Amino acid sequence: MKKISDSSTTKSSSQKTRYVYNFGEQTDGNASMRELLGGKGANLAEMAAIGLPVPPGFTVSTDVCTYFYAHGRSYPKTLAKDVEVAVKSVAKQMKREFGGRDNPLLVSVRSGARDSMPGMMDTILNLGLNDETVEGLASISDNPRFAWDCYRRFIQMYGDVVMGVQALNEESECPFHALLDNMKTSLGKELDNELTAEELQELVQRYKKLIADKTGKSFPQDVYEQLWGAVGAVFGSWKNDRAILYRSQYGIPAEWGTAVNIQAMVFGNAGDDSGTGVAFTRDPATGEKVFYGEYLTNAQGEDVVAGVRTPKPIAAMAKELPKNFTDLEKVRTRLEKHFKDMQDFEFTIENGRLFILQTRNGKRTGLAAIRIAVELNKEKLIDQKTALLKIPAESVDTLLVPVFDAKAQKEAKLICTGLPAGPGAATGRIAFTAAQAEIEARKGNKVILCRSETSPDDLKGMLHSQGILTTRGGVSSHAALVARQLGKVCICGAADITINYERKTLTANGITLKEGDYISINGTTGSVYQGLIESADSEVKRVLEGTMKASESYTYELFNTVMEWSDKYRKLRIRTNADTPAMAQTAVAYGAEGIGLCRTEHMFFEGSRIDDMRQMILAVDGVQRREALKKLLPMQRKDFVGLFKAMAGRPVTIRLLDPPLHEFLPQDDAVRRQLADKLGLPLEFVIDRIKALHEENPMLGCRGCRLGILYPEITEMQVQAIFEAAAELLTAKKPVEVHPEIMIPLVGFKAELADQLAIVHRIAEQVMTRKKIKFKYMVGTMVEVPRAAITADEIAEHAEFFSFGTNDLTQTTLGLSRDDMGLFYDEYQQKEIYSKNPFASLDKTGVGKLMQFAVTNGQKTRKDLKLGICGEHAGDPDSIDFCHNLGLQYVSCSPPRVPIARLAAAQAALRAAK
Ligand code: ADP
Ligand code: MG
Ligand code: MG
Repeated sequence: MKKISDSSTTKSSSQKTRYVYNFGEQTDGNASMRELLGGKGANLAEMAAIGLPVPPGFTVSTDVCTYFYAHGRSYPKTLAKDVEVAVKSVAKQMKREFGGRDNPLLVSVRSGARDSMPGMMDTILNLGLNDETVEGLASISDNPRFAWDCYRRFIQMYGDVVMGVQALNEESECPFHALLDNMKTSLGKELDNELTAEELQELVQRYKKLIADKTGKSFPQDVYEQLWGAVGAVFGSWKNDRAILYRSQYGIPAEWGTAVNIQAMVFGNAGDDSGTGVAFTRDPATGEKVFYGEYLTNAQGEDVVAGVRTPKPIAAMAKELPKNFTDLEKVRTRLEKHFKDMQDFEFTIENGRLFILQTRNGKRTGLAAIRIAVELNKEKLIDQKTALLKIPAESVDTLLVPVFDAKAQKEAKLICTGLPAGPGAATGRIAFTAAQAEIEARKGNKVILCRSETSPDDLKGMLHSQGILTTRGGVSSHAALVARQLGKVCICGAADITINYERKTLTANGITLKEGDYISINGTTGSVYQGLIESADSEVKRVLEGTMKASESYTYELFNTVMEWSDKYRKLRIRTNADTPAMAQTAVAYGAEGIGLCRTEHMFFEGSRIDDMRQMILAVDGVQRREALKKLLPMQRKDFVGLFKAMAGRPVTIRLLDPPLHEFLPQDDAVRRQLADKLGLPLEFVIDRIKALHEENPMLGCRGCRLGILYPEITEMQVQAIFEAAAELLTAKKPVEVHPEIMIPLVGFKAELADQLAIVHRIAEQVMTRKKIKFKYMVGTMVEVPRAAITADEIAEHAEFFSFGTNDLTQTTLGLSRDDMGLFYDEYQQKEIYSKNPFASLDKTGVGKLMQFAVTNGQKTRKDLKLGICGEHAGDPDSIDFCHNLGLQYVSCSPPRVPIARLAAAQAALRAAK
């Protein structure tokens, strides 16, 4: 019965552009034609072609939309004729007549862009009704009430969408609704469907009068005039404010345009054996394979969404309309088999007959995305590669972060919202200072560190907190960065909150909380709540930590499946940025294959070490400096022993000391005095030294390898600690394999590298001789200033590896400090100057080009140059894709992002292979 047309049966001959595509008895389109037919039109065609019960109709292509806007809102010459032919064909299939007095065909006029833009553009139902055809509909349906209800709905929609009779503003009521409500009140009726045919007829008169009064025009009686009015309104709605805003938010180009679908109406409001609904083939929130959705009996499409009557869950249909439910179940299976993905579809039942009106791939949560992909594979609908590509890499996070108890969160009092910067849920007592956070934590309490913003001084406090809340700063602020690095829950830029450090209170929207009060933050949504909300570790985390059996957690099974598949297809190795054995262990549990960046400065901030470090910096000569460093050496060695052990033979890249000097020196008078006392130095001396070491622009001052070149003792001490740790483990009773890779930071000149390299090799020799053991190690550099990338051929003479430090490389290439974007960033975003935050997602055309240049030229000098990336970007799926194509060997990201990186790396490889 259904057949795909060949060109000889279509009216538009091959010489001219085709604008109209039928679906129904004859179907011209298919699912692959979304660009031309829009998503809705393409899938309607596909469903018709495979024999699903789709009311017949046709699609006016997106080309016409383009034409419409290019030609002062007019149509191609041939369109009118083509539409007429198509309408006649639909009428014939329905055994009706468009505008026919006795058996009128009614149609819907529906928008449909390439990507679905739910509810953004206009749809008109019941078109074709006028004062005559309404009588015809009444007699063929033998239901005058129904006919007049359709007519008044049509006039309402048409009056609104096409003739512009609308509420004056958002607060005021729609004038049609006002008339309807008036009528119900005066008749003492509550529900729309209590109105009789006669009353609806009267309402139609009032509607028509309203239109005439408001527009000076009468409601059109000519059905083709109605049709063209509706088509124009749908094309016009492509440029309405709602649609424009939606497009800008989802990055849909304005040039795409919308298609228009004109389709025979079927009636869910034809009686109690009729109805309409929306269904998902699986639960879009959890991904579970259950039939999910809702429906209303005796109702038309928009009633479900409008929320006038409360729809019933789809399961209730099994009792109420059993035959249709069985049919619907079959459609559900059929749709998934055919489209090979979870579908979100619309249906209508007219007098016991089921029709499908739309289908599309359903939107879903991260958890659902994973579950559906894995289960579709189990059901043999898709292969592993397809399944992997269906999961947004970020969604892996939803399996790992702690979660709030859903019911408890609903009941909690929302204080305000900020920027979701570290996903997950955290609850705890408020601490306004890092010190207070530590005190609370030592008491065994959970803490949320609340600050206007954080600085490196707060690191310890952040470590002790469950979550971090700041009132200033964006998602690339210090707080956000550290939170992601540590896997902490974080909300930043919660501007409604005022913190009063003196009174130790925070206030937002009339609510004041004190230090020690409970507060809860959802870093996935940005919501801040008063009081305590119960939360729990993710199941995956509990399994990985051994507090839950793998066999008991389906979430873990999903996680593990996706990770196994990812590892099978990825080419990139995944390393982690970790500074402590604990972080390293977490990362290994998540699948890290090495450390790509160990920041040794964190080791200097811990405990009383900072004082030794300060003593070292304040020292007037090398002798004093060595004295201080001597105290640091055993501590560093111990750190590295721990780290190497945790990594159990996996490669470990250790970056030598990097931060600018000022980060070590106290700016506070009291602390300076304490320090002077402790070191037995006169206060004036300490103050003078600090003054002498002052830098105008420390981030571009004495940091990175400059520090090691100025104070070679530091480099000596650090590499000695590394190599002695290696020797210790290699010669231990139970030897541990060790692969140290020494990374020299902020190199821009090959001479800088040569200087430090000499020290590294000398100390290595010394340790080997002393310990009577040989070990292998590598020395390389972080490529993080443009000069390093530009002179990569020279630098590679000395470097065995390059690790792209894209945080600094972005700062130095853009000439922009990551922490100072606040003033202009919003403006830049609005003007789309940066397409994405360059610190979150790699600036491929700028920074990326430098990387490409460095790769090519570095490899010219050294064929086996090892290449990796260790900036924040290494955890960003889009940037990982870029790194794969650049030919890097590994990406190194923070521990909690390792699983995301594994998946993203696999997806990059699969996409590249396509
Ligand atoms: P949206 O893109 O906003 O979902 P639709 O074009 O899908 O808009 O239409 C809005 C509502 O009208 C839907 O509930 C749909 O089921 C209903 N509808 C559209 N066309 C028809 C039709 N031919 N017969 C019955 N109902 C229809
Ligand atoms: Mg729809
Ligand atoms: Mg750096």
